[in-house]
Amino acid sequence: MKKILIPASILFIAISACSRKSVPSSSSKGRIEQLKKERELATQSGDNATPAAKSKHKKSKHQPSLSPTNEALNNDVAIKKTRDSTLYFDSAYANYVYETLAQAYADTIAMSPENNDPSLDYAKGFVGTTNFNMRKPNFVIIHHTSQNSVDETLHTFTLERTGVSAHYLIGKDGSIHHLVNDYLRAWQAGAGKWGNITDMNSCSVGIELDNDGYAPFTDKQINSLLVVLESLKKRFGIPQANFIGHEDWAPVRKNDPNVNFPWAILAAKGFGNWWSDTTNVQVPIDFNSTQALRIIGYDIRDLGRTVIAFRRHFCGVESTDTALSPAEVKVLYCLYTKYMY
Ligand SMILES: [Zn+2]
Repeated sequence: MKKILIPASILFIAISACSRKSVPSSSSKGRIEQLKKERELATQSGDNATPAAKSKHKKSKHQPSLSPTNEALNNDVAIKKTRDSTLYFDSAYANYVYETLAQAYADTIAMSPENNDPSLDYAKGFVGTTNFNMRKPNFVIIHHTSQNSVDETLHTFTLERTGVSAHYLIGKDGSIHHLVNDYLRAWQAGAGKWGNITDMNSCSVGIELDNDGYAPFTDKQINSLLVVLESLKKRFGIPQANFIGHEDWAPVRKNDPNVNFPWAILAAKGFGNWWSDTTNVQVPIDFNSTQALRIIGYDIRDLGRTVIAFRRHFCGVESTDTALSPAEVKVLYCLYTKYMY
């Protein structure tokens, strides 16, 4: 067959024209709103669901149900029972919302940057540079879910009212769920501070480990985590020091991952800094622990909570003592020296 070659310049013009025609935010928002309405109607009235809602859901791969009916309870994907209540996640609905939002963001990115702030008085004639690529995450935040199962967390992450998500969720059996593209902003870190960063969601990938907040982590789970971390480090060039816990970012609000998390194992593989043998370490007499915590990255506005988070992470001890012991000061000093270069 004879190939028809289209000059790259014509393709570029065609793609650009398509992109600029789109009105992403309003149209996709409208589609999601419409779907929500149909879903609400169907949930309220059972068999009286709108034809559009019925046909949309009939087409879905997993046959998701809109309320936990007997039929739905037979569905091993959409409905899961927990000890507290019947939880269900509608993967078809969630995927539809995900794809619609992702497309809207893609459309926004493809538009002329002059749309970023139309109130600016731009020079005439848009000129787009030819040299750019996607922004990349530079941190990894590790969490535990504080929930009872992967399904419970999938339920939480697919309810819009919770307003929380993460890029990855790793089960106790080592299963890896990838919920948000690494280039997009998941809602996982929340308010906090590390160094001078105040919007961690914009520069990090969040990884949730299925864990009730107290239990040890399974070997399979940690092995899968290491595989994910290796992939992220390789693809995005994330520095060793920038693999931290949610508790490090937000010591006042968070304690995850819990005291059982094997930070030393991660550090040995290049994910997160660690300290060396402190046996012969002499801490200088003028060593300032508070400044050292700050240099490492911690927010020291509530020093007591920061000390508790530091101890949990780097000493593997859960304690409410807000003062560092001499042995813990040695650990801090060793660690601090790694941040001075
Ligand atoms: Zn967390």
